[in-house]
Amino acid sequence: MQLVVLGAGLIGVTSAYRLAEEGHDVTVIDRREGPGLETSFANGGQLGFREVSPWAAPDVPWTALKMLRDPAAPFRWKPKAELEQWRWLLAFLLRCNSPARAERERHNLSLGLFSQKELEGLLARLAGEGESFSFDHKRKGILRLLPDAKAVKHAREEMARLADMEPGLEVLEAGACVALEPALASIHQRGELAGGLYAPGDQSGDAHLFTRALAKRAEAKGVRFLYGREITSFEESAGRLKAVRCGAEKIEAEAFVFSLGVGGLKLARKLGFRLPFYPVKGYSVSVEMEEGAPEVSLTDEGRRIVVSNLGGRLRAAGKAEIAGFDTALDRTRARAVLQGLQELIPSVGEAAEAEFWTGLRPMTADGSPIIDKAPGYENLYLNTGHGTLGWTLAMGSASLLADLIGGKATQIDPTPFALKRPSLFP
Ligand SMILES: Cc1cc2nc3c(=O)[nH]c(=O)nc-3n(C[C@H](O)[C@H](O)[C@H](O)COP(=O)(O)OP(=O)(O)OC[C@H]3O[C@@H](n4cnc5c(N)ncnc54)[C@H](O)[C@@H]3O)c2cc1C
Repeated sequence: MQLVVLGAGLIGVTSAYRLAEEGHDVTVIDRREGPGLETSFANGGQLGFREVSPWAAPDVPWTALKMLRDPAAPFRWKPKAELEQWRWLLAFLLRCNSPARAERERHNLSLGLFSQKELEGLLARLAGEGESFSFDHKRKGILRLLPDAKAVKHAREEMARLADMEPGLEVLEAGACVALEPALASIHQRGELAGGLYAPGDQSGDAHLFTRALAKRAEAKGVRFLYGREITSFEESAGRLKAVRCGAEKIEAEAFVFSLGVGGLKLARKLGFRLPFYPVKGYSVSVEMEEGAPEVSLTDEGRRIVVSNLGGRLRAAGKAEIAGFDTALDRTRARAVLQGLQELIPSVGEAAEAEFWTGLRPMTADGSPIIDKAPGYENLYLNTGHGTLGWTLAMGSASLLADLIGGKATQIDPTPFALKRPSLFP
């Protein structure tokens, strides 16, 4: 089938590759000059297949409220006279309870474990083609650092809830965390580490390098990439999308995949439906570090940052800012991420050459992506709204989508990722 994928971020490129593997004739369109240059550019690097709990949790509203006056706090909200922002906040608040979180944890874990299987399969197929495929991939696991006894108790409860799905999680004593990752000696000595939740099967890697390398392999498979094209409008008839328009240029296909990240919100409106996600801005900082960098990827619950070792660079990411489509880099907030990293790993030092970045997570209120047919169209498919988990869930989402498009039996249940699920439209 002739298919056009809209968007060349992580989600669009993985979708395009899987669809080409299934024998489709694929074209990808993006407004930027290359793949993965927006939200997929400098994320936290975690392939946290077992680190998939939604952000909406019972303590979040109160914690967020207490942070509102601190300009460097992990959470920030800039109220806007915008219906979409208020609708999203209301839906998010309604998800801040234990049963809602536990429900999504299971769905995300099933997609997470499927994504790991699909990524391993993809990497084996790519290795079989001969040329190297590198993206600073590390298979050292992810360790969630638990600052106090309460966090350890919550981690044990989470493990018990998910035990039947056999994710392979272990709670470690503080000393065992340092034995696993010696870079944690300093916070242990300062008494800031009560224990850790370790997922040995989790991984990390540079999402942008991966997206770029996979786009190259996709091109070699015959996928066409049309860069520098801003999608402006659509042509449709009798419940079918006929073409997308990039200014005067018209690109036709038999079917379309919608993977435009936060750029998709306005375009969905033009197609007559609403996508229930909102931009949530995050920050990252990358520093050069050859010696003393942690090998294990870290999630620091206390400082609310994630840290990944990306081959000679250490990347820390964090912050959640609800402020519309503004990607401006606020120095105070960016430096707070660096400061968190320096506290966690003091050998990072002054990091004069630190590179800061911001990106907008396309975030649903319930913390799961949307992988479904678009309402009102026979031939338009959605693979979008991956929020905090786009790198982690990309390969599983692409394979699920390819099975839906191909009319095949899917390997995991797609209904939890449907657009019109009750958890998104309370
Ligand atoms: C600070 C931060 C840290 C993160 N850390 C992690 C992590 O550790 N692990 C993890 O799993 N996830 C993480 N994420 C989330 C992950 O990065 C995102 O979920 C993912 O990048 C989303 O990919 P996407 O393809 O949907 O969007 P994008 O990468 O934004 O791609 C969308 C593409 O669509 C194009 N586009 C949009 N509108 C148009 C238009 N009108 N015309 C043409 N092209 C258009 C854009 O140019 C862009 O290339 C993090 C995100 C942030 C911000």
